Amino acid sequence: YLSTPSTSNMPPVTKPGHEKFDIVWIGGGSGGVAGSRRAASYGAKVALIEQTERLGGTCVNVGCVPKKIMWHAADIAEKLKHASAYQFKGEGVGTPKFDWDSFKPQRDAYIRRLNGIYDNNVAKEGVELHQGTARILSCNVVQVTRADGSKYELKTDKIVVATGGRPTIPSDKDIPGASLGINSDGFFDLEKQPKRVVVVGAGYIAVELAGVFHTLGSEVDVLIRGDTVLRTFDPVLGETLTKWMEHTGINFHKGAKVTKVEGARGQTLTIHTDKGEKVEADVLLWAIGRHANTEGLGLEELGVKLDEKGQVVANEWQESNVDGIYALGDVCGKALLTPVAIAAGRRLSNRLYGGEQYKTDKLSYENIPTVVFSHPTIGTVGLTEPEARKKYGDANIKIYKSSFRALYFSMLPEEHKEPSVYKLIVTGPEERVVGIHIIGLGSDEVMQGFGVAVKMGATKKDLDDTVAIHPTSGEELVTLR
Ligand code: FAD
Ligand code: NDP
Repeated sequence: YLSTPSTSNMPPVTKPGHEKFDIVWIGGGSGGVAGSRRAASYGAKVALIEQTERLGGTCVNVGCVPKKIMWHAADIAEKLKHASAYQFKGEGVGTPKFDWDSFKPQRDAYIRRLNGIYDNNVAKEGVELHQGTARILSCNVVQVTRADGSKYELKTDKIVVATGGRPTIPSDKDIPGASLGINSDGFFDLEKQPKRVVVVGAGYIAVELAGVFHTLGSEVDVLIRGDTVLRTFDPVLGETLTKWMEHTGINFHKGAKVTKVEGARGQTLTIHTDKGEKVEADVLLWAIGRHANTEGLGLEELGVKLDEKGQVVANEWQESNVDGIYALGDVCGKALLTPVAIAAGRRLSNRLYGGEQYKTDKLSYENIPTVVFSHPTIGTVGLTEPEARKKYGDANIKIYKSSFRALYFSMLPEEHKEPSVYKLIVTGPEERVVGIHIIGLGSDEVMQGFGVAVKMGATKKDLDDTVAIHPTSGEELVTLR
């Protein structure tokens, strides 16, 4: 779809085009766009309500897409550093500087183009796009409030809540000055590259954005509550990544919590920790998780069950406890990933409107492969070692592991040689693979195929029986002993 030329944005409609819709989707992000289009493709009368002027939600506007573009920029910066070891000589090699100021508008223009493509695709499929903030008045009525304050109602048989989430920032009451910091949305607004950055958090976003800043030349301090990043991942990944990030010059403050932030936005900030440290920075970035967008939607009034974090409780069929109200994607707080929201949305529409063959079509939340775009990248699927030990018992688990350096690094001095660690977790006498955890150059691209293998129930013997592709890093997974 990226090659489709973008025309101007299709104007959203301002009043309902049907007396009654079959289904109204709230939220024009990954789940809402994919699901509403699929429903319309079966001929259903579909409305999609998006509160911003831009379709695509978090992933397109302030998530996966601009983040991966920044990761690519950082990757090029790394390769430029390595070029002289491969005997690239002459002016410019090793010296070009990344120009954030020029790159940002270029990246933004690409995202705008994507927004246009989304608008066109939604319109082409026959989805009626309503721009405004949705509120559910009853199981069959959704109110749309437009930017100018005007309101109108859509009548419908079914409603899907796909409103996603937003970054969490501590309150100024809990941490004085916390609001002087930015979050991942603010990262994508930065017009200039900050010289000094403090990142607070230890999850996907903290390691990805700290990695981008650092690789592009900012000084980076990371404040984490534990001893390693990515504590919910297999321990080998967090340990290896934390060590490498430290090795490359990122300054970690472990077991540290922010107690106070002083200064002013745009000027030097002083971040105080509970260990008595004071760290100065131009930008403070909070990356401590996300909150579901459920406030003001009318869900509680309707009796829709939310959990203690305010996330919608939906079953495996994406049904809430109230008939005709469904929820999917980040708003449910489970596996906050774009392909998860897309798959849940499409499968729901398949089931509702796709005929007999789809009556049992649903997304399985087991064995979802995922990648962290850190430096180096991480790929993972299935159970971590602690999870596997708990589920199957120590006696029924076997671990295969390989630590190596990708061939690419053979020409580089020792300090640039990134680690690769590949780990396979198997269970039972047939050695069924229940977890794969890899870190190292190219892990992001290696993972997808192994995700298929795990989903199909591959055993260690299946991997061993697969002929290796040489010389690659991926071949390590079919030659483990
Ligand atoms: P969203 O995409 O958030 O869409 C929700 C939409 O609902 C928004 O457009 C919002 O404006 C709208 N909305 C909210 N309330 C209302 C209302 N009352 N009325 C009308 N509209 C409303 N995932 C990956 O798989 N790979 C990645 O590399 C990756 N990188 C990420 C990087 C960052 C920095 C972040 C923050 C996230 C990243 N993610 C990544 C996660 C991914 O972006 C989300 O999982 C995905 O966007 C969730 O889709 P969704 O449809 O549930 O919600
Ligand atoms: P995560 O939930 O992944 O990580 C946040 C981490 O921050 C926690 O694991 C915790 O680690 C730490 N933390 C939590 N609260 C605090 C606090 N009060 N103070 C300090 N640290 C705290 O959230 P992210 O914001 O990183 O990302 C949100 C989600 O978006 C991800 O879970 C992922 O699903 C998705 N995403 C996916 C990406 C991808 O696919 N590549 C990229 C980016 C986001 P600890 O307990 O160790 O302190």
